[in-house]
Amino acid sequence: MAALLLAFLVGLALGSFLNVVITRLPLGEAFWAGRSRCPHCRAPISWRDNVPLLSFLRQRGRCRICHDPIPRRYPAVELAGGLLALALWTSFPGSYLLLVYGSFCAALVVLTGLDLEHRWLPDVITLPGIALGLAFSLIFPQLSFFESLAGALLGGGLFYALMWTYERLTGRMGMGGGDVKLLALIGAFLGLKALPFVILVSAALGSLVGIAVVLISGNWRPGDWRATAIPFGPFLAGAALLYLFGHPALARLLPGV
Ligand SMILES: [Zn+2]
Repeated sequence: MAALLLAFLVGLALGSFLNVVITRLPLGEAFWAGRSRCPHCRAPISWRDNVPLLSFLRQRGRCRICHDPIPRRYPAVELAGGLLALALWTSFPGSYLLLVYGSFCAALVVLTGLDLEHRWLPDVITLPGIALGLAFSLIFPQLSFFESLAGALLGGGLFYALMWTYERLTGRMGMGGGDVKLLALIGAFLGLKALPFVILVSAALGSLVGIAVVLISGNWRPGDWRATAIPFGPFLAGAALLYLFGHPALARLLPGV
């Protein structure tokens, strides 16, 4: 129990750091330079107001200085960090795999935040991430290097071929190049065998949410699908996490998955 609580608290703190990365990367600011600031009034945030989740709740989601609302993304990413740390500890207690899949989860959280806010899956995260996934498979035995390399090449290759075909047929951009590199990253960490699940589940989730967004917003105009297009990165990340944490249970239910 104490271990779970500790994992949750460490996850909250790491989530807080991932928020800094999501905020500063698009601005070109270094993650380590200077204290965190309010995004509206730029007032430095004291350590007392920077406690994950608690500060947001105590200040009712507003900056102490300018009283402007703090984006919901901050507590959401902190909570995601805490919950993912719980899931990681429960799945791989005390194992070296915490390092492997911890860095994988951190990359997915940052990419999800950036894709939702900026429609941006930066190379500076995806490319080193692919290299890290391949390196981990060389050092640790959870995945053979061949499985990891085949996952990265086929994941990226398959999406690249889809993107290329779609553009040739329609003359429009469908997926972005960032989605291609994100699937290569997922393939490098989870291996070739995870790709069918990740592609099917992310496409299904993306379609469901896409239809829901169109129905709720009611602003569907034929030929103007970009107006309602939603970023695909978060669905890829969500499907990868479902595979990572749900795969043992899934394999018992559906042998061969
Ligand atoms: Zn402020």
